[in-house]
Amino acid sequence: MATINANFLKLKAGYLFPEIARRVRAYSEANPAQASRIIRCGIGDVTEPLPAAAVEAMRAGVEELGRRETFKGYGPEQGYEFLRQAIVEHQFAGLGISADEVFISDGSKCDTGNILDIFGQGNIIAITDPVYPVYVDTNVMAGNTGDADAKGTYAGLLYLPCHPANGFVAAVPNEHADLIYLCFPNNPTGAVASRAQLEAWVAYAREHDAILLFDAAYEAFIQDPAIPHSIFEIEGAHECAIEFRSFSKNGGFTGVRCGYVIIPKSVTGSDGMGGRVPLNQLWSRRHSTKFNGASYPVQKAAAAIFSEAGKAQVAGLIDHYMGNAKLLREACTAAGLSVFGGVDAPYVWVACPAGLSSWDMFDKMLSEAQVVITPGSGFGSAGEGFFRISAFNSRSNVEEVCRRLLALLG
Ligand SMILES: *Cc1c(COP(=O)(O)O)cnc(C)c1O
Repeated sequence: MATINANFLKLKAGYLFPEIARRVRAYSEANPAQASRIIRCGIGDVTEPLPAAAVEAMRAGVEELGRRETFKGYGPEQGYEFLRQAIVEHQFAGLGISADEVFISDGSKCDTGNILDIFGQGNIIAITDPVYPVYVDTNVMAGNTGDADAKGTYAGLLYLPCHPANGFVAAVPNEHADLIYLCFPNNPTGAVASRAQLEAWVAYAREHDAILLFDAAYEAFIQDPAIPHSIFEIEGAHECAIEFRSFSKNGGFTGVRCGYVIIPKSVTGSDGMGGRVPLNQLWSRRHSTKFNGASYPVQKAAAAIFSEAGKAQVAGLIDHYMGNAKLLREACTAAGLSVFGGVDAPYVWVACPAGLSSWDMFDKMLSEAQVVITPGSGFGSAGEGFFRISAFNSRSNVEEVCRRLLALLG
């Protein structure tokens, strides 16, 4: 008899995005005349084509694989040296990170989920609420939680509520935690953490012998020069933090797939018997056992993001999306709504009109304006009463969404 991992049975059936898709499908079938008007600002996926520098490099990489003289088979599991070196030079200059502390992967979703492989059972896990659902669900699968209640809150997790009063940046808790997930700029709230707030988290982690799992997938969207892009800008983080980065949102690689993890060799965990083990070594073992490297043309394309042309093209993409975010912020404000985020992040986080729940607002926007948003409650119970609008769209779609928002609520 093959038994299953019964932790999977604890997962809430209606994962957010399938439920959104189900409601959009049901609406389209019932209202075929309106279906073509639907504009999707729901799922956080990029819309603009790849930077030309990445396309060119990927094409050249494929050509190399197509010739006997330059053909390559399996590459290093950790990623090619040319990409790891480019990352160190262009993203972590002066931050004391070396190429053997960089692990290339096929994306951050996998990395943030897989990282649990190297941690033991019984850790106290802290997550912010609302949160990127991957952090929660992977802990459920790993057996780090109890059951969920009706609101989808799992027993055994330490939830750190984020709301307007704390600017959607959780303060360090009074309780002990062993692993803390932080995501800045934040998905879904668009909040960023100041240097002082990150310093407080590093101090907490050092005091509690905890590890910060820092997801910086949106660092390229930071506009304010005072906001740190990396946790390793904070002194002491090299002993207590792991950082996740991705080419998905800056380079538009959501369909190409490339990300990376930074694990300084000085970050260690307890073996439970008084010894300390470097996490870099464990992850290296895990990565080379379960992963065979990201594809060569993809790594060539990723490295091209750091060329002069690539940097200029990425800056153009960021400007485009942040211009969208500004328009969405202005339209929501003009419609009388309380607006957060969207300044250093491509997500605008909005309080629902009085009396409407997150899903009420979702249904209203879909049925009366044919605009798909993301209900805040899908990211955790503290997200109830809010909705997320993604700035990942064409300018004309965003302008139309703004017009419809004002017509609906203004
Ligand atoms: C989009 C996103 C990522 C990146 O995921 P990939 O698997 O690299 O595409 C990571 N973290 C968060 C919070 C995200 O929203």
